[in-house]
Amino acid sequence: MSDLFLHPVLPDFLTGPLQQLGKAHRSPEASCEVVVVPGGLSLSTTWLDALPALRLISVFGVGFDGVPLEYCRKRQIAVTNTPDVLTDDVADIATALVLMTSRNLGEAERFTRAGRWLAGSLPLAHALRGKTAGILGMGRIGKAIAQRLQAHGMTIAYHGRRAQPDLPWPWCSSLRELARQSDFLIAACPGGPETLHLVNAEVLAALGPQGTLINIARGSVVDSNALVRALQDGRIRAAGLDVYEQEPQIPQALLDCPRCVLLPHVGSATHETRQAMADLVLANVRAHLRGEALITPVS
Ligand code: NAP
Repeated sequence: MSDLFLHPVLPDFLTGPLQQLGKAHRSPEASCEVVVVPGGLSLSTTWLDALPALRLISVFGVGFDGVPLEYCRKRQIAVTNTPDVLTDDVADIATALVLMTSRNLGEAERFTRAGRWLAGSLPLAHALRGKTAGILGMGRIGKAIAQRLQAHGMTIAYHGRRAQPDLPWPWCSSLRELARQSDFLIAACPGGPETLHLVNAEVLAALGPQGTLINIARGSVVDSNALVRALQDGRIRAAGLDVYEQEPQIPQALLDCPRCVLLPHVGSATHETRQAMADLVLANVRAHLRGEALITPVS
């Protein structure tokens, strides 16, 4: 029977079935052959060095920016994640943030509950039709966001490391140029060192005083100090965020900012999607233990 380390924050509907597959540990033991961790958790090489029997890291999430892939390659540790099954939910949350920031829905809800409607109407908000959504990271989630926003009458453009000629939307070789063209700049790329603070003061300045930043990617993609300054100085209009640099800590300046819509990293947080993610983790761990091909290996 193989030893598995199951990270303590994993839900019971995942750890229950995993416990049937091997001897489960709630703290990392040198004997562990499989490690199952939540998406975004940072695994240091020192921590991994203490697991000499490790052969599989299974991430309960699509983002594997917390896994040192080069180190894993050298040690022949396989890595799996949960792509596709969460795409629609995360794209829905990005769309919700676009709607919430453009139509001031958070403020509208607080206004109604506080009984302020009795004294007058809310100020007018902003329409989506005819506006441009610039998507940073036109992958699975980026494409699902683009389809949704197109249905709202928006024009789509995107930036990534390369153009995708099969797509009906124009590629922008520079993120700054994409921001300049965009009313909504939407981060949907992976986290990690390559994308650290891609959205910086210059990009926010290019987005401009009528622009809104949406981040459903990773907190690390946006320089939060630059974001706070841009919001405070009116250099962008609003922000809609699901992810933060130091989760679950959120800078006080963002908490205090009425033009920010703040969600607690709920992109994939539905019963249906978390169950589908759990099923995929289970299928990968089962395949590994049987010596079969992994279902969703990270290449
Ligand atoms: P994906 O299909 O791999 O798409 C990622 C896209 O980002 C690719 O199109 C890639 O295009 C682009 N990209 C990668 N590196 C880049 C760089 N340095 N600069 C610009 N673009 C870059 O991944 P996905 O399934 O759509 O997921 C995307 C990310 O969403 C995940 O990694 C995760 O961090 C985040 N996420 C968040 C939540 C949440 O709850 N908020 C949930 C799930 C996922 P190129 O190769 O052309 O650059």
